[in-house]
Amino acid sequence: MKEQEIIGRGTWIDKLAYELAEREKELGRNLSILKVESGLGASGIPHIGSLGDAVRAYGVKLALENLGYKSELIAYSDDLDGLRKIPEGFPDWLKEHIAKPVSFIPDPFGCHDSYGLHMSSLLLDGLDKLGIKYKFQRGVDTYKNGLLKDQIHTILLNNKKIGEKIAEMVGQEKYQGALPYFPVCSNCGRLYTAEAYEYLPEEKKIKYRCHETTIGSKPLAGCGHDGIADITKDLGKLTWKVEFAARWQAFDVRFEAYGKDIMDSVKVNDWVADEILKFPHPHHVKYEMFLDKGGKKISKSLGNVVTSQAWLKYGTPKSILLLLYKRITGAREVGFEDIPALMDEYNELENIYFGKVKLENETKTVRAKGLYEYVNLLNPPKIMAAHVNYRLLVELCKIFREQRNEHVIKKIIEYGIIKESTPEIEHLVNLAGSYADDFDKPSKVEIQFDETTKKAIKELIVILSSENEPTELQNSIYQIAKTVGMQPKDFFKTLYQIILASDRGPKIGPLIIDIGRKKVVQSLAEYI
Ligand SMILES: [Zn+2]
Ligand SMILES: [Zn+2]
Repeated sequence: MKEQEIIGRGTWIDKLAYELAEREKELGRNLSILKVESGLGASGIPHIGSLGDAVRAYGVKLALENLGYKSELIAYSDDLDGLRKIPEGFPDWLKEHIAKPVSFIPDPFGCHDSYGLHMSSLLLDGLDKLGIKYKFQRGVDTYKNGLLKDQIHTILLNNKKIGEKIAEMVGQEKYQGALPYFPVCSNCGRLYTAEAYEYLPEEKKIKYRCHETTIGSKPLAGCGHDGIADITKDLGKLTWKVEFAARWQAFDVRFEAYGKDIMDSVKVNDWVADEILKFPHPHHVKYEMFLDKGGKKISKSLGNVVTSQAWLKYGTPKSILLLLYKRITGAREVGFEDIPALMDEYNELENIYFGKVKLENETKTVRAKGLYEYVNLLNPPKIMAAHVNYRLLVELCKIFREQRNEHVIKKIIEYGIIKESTPEIEHLVNLAGSYADDFDKPSKVEIQFDETTKKAIKELIVILSSENEPTELQNSIYQIAKTVGMQPKDFFKTLYQIILASDRGPKIGPLIIDIGRKKVVQSLAEYI
């Protein structure tokens, strides 16, 4: 990539924003503000990946501003959605509330006005802690205030055409009969059991019948109520197949990303926006979904969901932003064990940004600097922070359990890594300490060794396993490298990689003694 071909800060986010703006120009639309939207689920405990949608959309907003446009992020909470299933670990009494809008179900934790508000508050709290700015729009308010009434009207007038198109595009035949709108039954308060069968366009009212339906392959009985609902103010919502389109037009949205789980919905919504509402659909990008490591295992019980709140016990907000801005695809599985690598990767990016580390490739340098700027929400610090390798801190925190901060900080001063403690360093030690306490095993890093290196490692194991405390360990390691015919600095690097998953570290001899010879032998043995 040549200098003049670099867009914005050179990241995928800039490229996306550029494409978006170019498309808007081609469409000839008003460019005075380019709004981006992201949906916030309110049905379950939000996994850290649920933040991804909003965080990345915010990145696009920043990139648009960087290109000279005005922008805004709308964070839309789906809190009028009905509860489809009870999340694992939640109380059983929620059963009676299945299919009711999450905003009208009591908060099982007792701290908010409703189930839905509890869940969306967790998400918003996560966004706030990351420094993401957004305009919060609740689904409940959107419908109560009739913000989509014109779109609902147009969609219902065209329901035949839409029903046929849905069947043709994605094979779902349901809407050839039913209207694409779910009223909330005024008798039992349920959403999906109330089937809308007739629209009265003059009155803008809908006739519905509350009867049995299936939710997540389980039958759910209706209350038998025959009702009528006003689409301009009564509770009810468009089905997902058409709701995005209505929102896009009503809120003038120009960008929305989506996960592949809702690909079909987006396809239909694009068509509805373009052909029915005559509002060219927003620019999209498809992102990969984040999963828990080991799939179900981690989310099994309530306390184990990888939420941003739990993450921030061990890692900084920047480690989350790095996770989410690194790339749009890949990194499919995410867990707490990713924190040490992300913490250290951030330091590495900072080194590159401040020119302390040079990359061979110019494009990579631009991208790394750009990524660093986005992780700092395009407001990077003016001076570089003191860096302490996170894995080193975790190792030290495992050694010192009593008066931990004092001891760990004394050590890293002794190693010559920092000159004095700062509140930031204290905070880092606290994070690493929680990590050391809650997770025993640091994740093993993939390293390939040649035979010479293996030989050196074996010899070091012999020395470390001897009865007597080795004197001059630093020198012995140096001698081992010489004897097997490898550069001492390469051997040191290998040892840092094994012990700290880093290319660098404090003086290796004293570090091994501090960590404990037996523990180091165990780590070394795992690699040969
Ligand atoms: Zn609550
Ligand atoms: Zn009912």
